[in-house]
Amino acid sequence: MSSLFPALTDQPPSGPPSDRVALRFGDRSLTYAELAGAAGSLAGRLPRGGGRVAVWATPALETAVAVVAALEAGVVVVPLNPKSGEKELGHILSDSAPALILAAPGDELPSAVRDVPRVDVDVRATGGRLPDRVPVGDEDPALVVYTSGTTGPPKGAVIPRRAVAATLDALADAWGWTGEDVLVHGLPLFHVHGLVLGVLGPLRRGGSVRHLGRFSAEGVARELNSGATMLFGVPTMYHRLAETLPGDPGLAKALGRARLLVSGSAALPVHDHERITAATGQRVIERYGMTETLMNTSVRADGVPRAGTVGLPLPGVELRLVEEDGTPLTSYDGESVGEIQVRGPNLFTGYLNRPDATAGAFTADGWFRTGDMAVRDGDGYVRIVGRKATDLIKSGGYKIGAGEIENALLEHPGVREAAVTGEPDADLGERIVAWIVPQDQQSPPSDGELADHVAMRLAPHKRPRVVRYLDVLPRNDMGKIMKRALPS
Ligand code: ATP
Ligand code: MG
Repeated sequence: MSSLFPALTDQPPSGPPSDRVALRFGDRSLTYAELAGAAGSLAGRLPRGGGRVAVWATPALETAVAVVAALEAGVVVVPLNPKSGEKELGHILSDSAPALILAAPGDELPSAVRDVPRVDVDVRATGGRLPDRVPVGDEDPALVVYTSGTTGPPKGAVIPRRAVAATLDALADAWGWTGEDVLVHGLPLFHVHGLVLGVLGPLRRGGSVRHLGRFSAEGVARELNSGATMLFGVPTMYHRLAETLPGDPGLAKALGRARLLVSGSAALPVHDHERITAATGQRVIERYGMTETLMNTSVRADGVPRAGTVGLPLPGVELRLVEEDGTPLTSYDGESVGEIQVRGPNLFTGYLNRPDATAGAFTADGWFRTGDMAVRDGDGYVRIVGRKATDLIKSGGYKIGAGEIENALLEHPGVREAAVTGEPDADLGERIVAWIVPQDQQSPPSDGELADHVAMRLAPHKRPRVVRYLDVLPRNDMGKIMKRALPS
């Protein structure tokens, strides 16, 4: 098949200007020509067409070069989280059995990885040539990405090349994303968000990525003030920005300059979205995706903004909400909750070595069961209520989404973070429990104060019966709240 990254070899006018920076990580960068040289040189050292290689996915140029080289050689990439424990790494390596591991020359690899032959990535290599055609087909796998492990042990999702191309092109349509865009990136590179959207996305468009190494509000402001046009972040980053904005008029100005602020990987609290809009005049575009499906929905850049929604299905994606008995909902009323099921060219082909899990994930007619529950507004906008497994509380005969309650709690000035769960209750089936991280540990808001606060915002059956206080919520490396790790 043809390359996923025509910009690497196309000359202007269809390709990017030869001096355009493709990637910048800290003070190191590569133009498109340099990236083609480095990736071409590495591609020559990889097994051609087929097989898998692991990539030690630090937030560095080497990771991006390794992934591009492998994809151009038709080799499947398994990105590894360098912060994973030995046990998790051991599981991923025995599950995915990579032929090689690609790493930056200085990286020290833990013992779990040392048995795998290592190849160092030289980002300054020149003289290599990318193969004219990628020696595999559209349906062949591009990546095996392990899910975030929010609800259980991570599973390896086998993502075909066709899905990478389809999702990136659908996002380009929805976001008006072009080669002129310069992305500010502060996410890790071993998940779909940071790797597929944040690195492969700009390279497919012929644009630029500037990676901050570590996310910071100053870094974001600096890049947006010097020509960057878009920011991709997870909700914890937007929360940081919302908290910083009141004392930092320079940040408000910088964010105001962005063409596009995009949030995903978890629900963006409405309160943070509203604070950012109030301070900067910008809305945050929310998109919804999964490792297994890449991107499913997004608010369009030219669409109507609405906090708390993830917009409409992307071009090519079919989406339906399905009741517990398997009946699809037929009308949008903003209230009826169903499981999101999707179909389209963006879908993975299955979980590696898990035929049971793969079979269970699809309906007989080929829809993928996301496990996420949602409602649709009258105009089709999707509002995620939460995950079926952890965020849907069955209390007093009602099905209640945790997200709405969390959003209400977060509007209280004394609440820094909130998570809502259900726990068994003799009368109600489940009772609603609010886990609160107070803004000020010394003077947390009282139960009574919180009860009055939610009484103004939520119907009686949605109000928490129990409030528990914590110093911090358990989160994974994408900032997702791990409800199964809350104390019981
Ligand atoms: P695991 O599947 O291992 O439990 P995970 O589901 O967190 O972990 P990912 O594939 O990284 O792994 O995350 C996909 C999930 O993230 C979705 O199913 C959804 O619950 C959540 N998500 C992603 N984007 C959004 C969003 N914009 N709003 C709400 N939830 C989102
Ligand atoms: Mg999942």
